[in-house]
Amino acid sequence: MQIGELAIELVRNAYRAYLLNNNISVFRNSMIDDNAPLVLYESKWIGDCEIASEEYRIVTENDNIYVVQGKVVFFNKEFEIYSTRSTVITVVCSKKNDAIKFEAVHNSGTRKKVIVDKNYVDKDTYYRTVMETLCDVVMEVDIEKNEISYDKDKYRALFWEAPDFKLMDDWFWHICSNFVNKNDAEKLDIFRSVDLEKRFKSHNYIIETKFRINRGEEEVWVHLRAVFVPDMDMIAVARVFILLDDITLEMIEKMQNIEFARRDSLTNLWNRRYTEEQIVKKIKENGKGIFLIVDVDKFKDVNDTFGHITGDTILRIVSSNMLTAIHEDEVLGRFGGDEFILYLNSTGDFDADMKHIDEVVGSTRFRHNESDVSMNIHCSAGVVFFDNPNVTFNQLYDEADKTMYEAKEGGRDAVNVIRI
Ligand code: GH3
Ligand code: MG
Repeated sequence: MQIGELAIELVRNAYRAYLLNNNISVFRNSMIDDNAPLVLYESKWIGDCEIASEEYRIVTENDNIYVVQGKVVFFNKEFEIYSTRSTVITVVCSKKNDAIKFEAVHNSGTRKKVIVDKNYVDKDTYYRTVMETLCDVVMEVDIEKNEISYDKDKYRALFWEAPDFKLMDDWFWHICSNFVNKNDAEKLDIFRSVDLEKRFKSHNYIIETKFRINRGEEEVWVHLRAVFVPDMDMIAVARVFILLDDITLEMIEKMQNIEFARRDSLTNLWNRRYTEEQIVKKIKENGKGIFLIVDVDKFKDVNDTFGHITGDTILRIVSSNMLTAIHEDEVLGRFGGDEFILYLNSTGDFDADMKHIDEVVGSTRFRHNESDVSMNIHCSAGVVFFDNPNVTFNQLYDEADKTMYEAKEGGRDAVNVIRI
């Protein structure tokens, strides 16, 4: 077996053991003390899992060092889900007499964690080698020499330029004044106010922040970590690594996930939870307004007559009609089934408000024809005008529900209004 293959084999075995035996630090190197970098910190994995797929490769190779990267996909039997979280590791292996020894491990799944240890970073190349395989840009600052060095091509890929910086401060002020989005300027304050001595005493060597930069017309999210590496005596800073990553895709995905979690999948309106959240916010902000429950009349008959698929389509039409009728700063959500909740602004002019309400509820009135069968679609609404910032969502809901019930009792296709 070639020495590179041996490295992969050993990393695979060790990592499998670590993942499947939850929290066993198989990478620990007993030759070094407890703070040694070979410890993979707590395994986030809980529950009964198996490895669904795994992939290991050598990312860097030279005379004495092999950097092996591994990515594992789990299958959690308990929850029946696949997960790749906390599963990318990078292991620095060194060759000793045709044997392999682990030198350092970085678990990039928990991206926050950068292992800093003097045993580790003193072995000059290791830390930078690992980080260069993991991060978009690594800048290294030698405090004694007061020099900053970085790979200009990689830097240019992120910032579209790569000036000659002499000092770390030059670089910092350069990006602050030329790149950092004004709304995020404060996020870099942690960098300025850093109290190194305090950090060192508490072994807190890393600061990090996420901010947007403006690059040409584009807005790019950057994750910045500054890793302060202590000297041999652990008293002063010997070196600083500035690690930069373009996390734009990650952030977009995160925002899309948030958006997705707020939407009702059938109608794409706000879902129940988010609708309530939005309305609670409106009550606090405005202290008054108009709360509505709108419920489709005899919707069971629609399903029975045309089937559920047409029923779904009708719910979508009702939703989109109301969405068109409300104003931009008003709230419309699907509360479940054929029931919708709305918050409309009150202008203080009752007639104008009623006109708006009639437009919104009226937008749900149409005739549906299908295979020679036709049916009038309409809704009933319970409307509550309120002028009290202390009113709760549940109070409004109960009042509107009672009011709507009366509209249904009275023959449906009606708007029933009360004031509380
Ligand atoms: P009412 O006028 O009293 O409101 O009569 P209704 O028949 O509309 O009664 P209700 O509001 O209680 O019933 C709602 C029906 O909506 C019950 C359920 O079968 C149907 N429903 C709930 N969710 C969906 C859905 O996502 N798609 C379809 N097609 N039907 C749904
Ligand atoms: Mg109904």
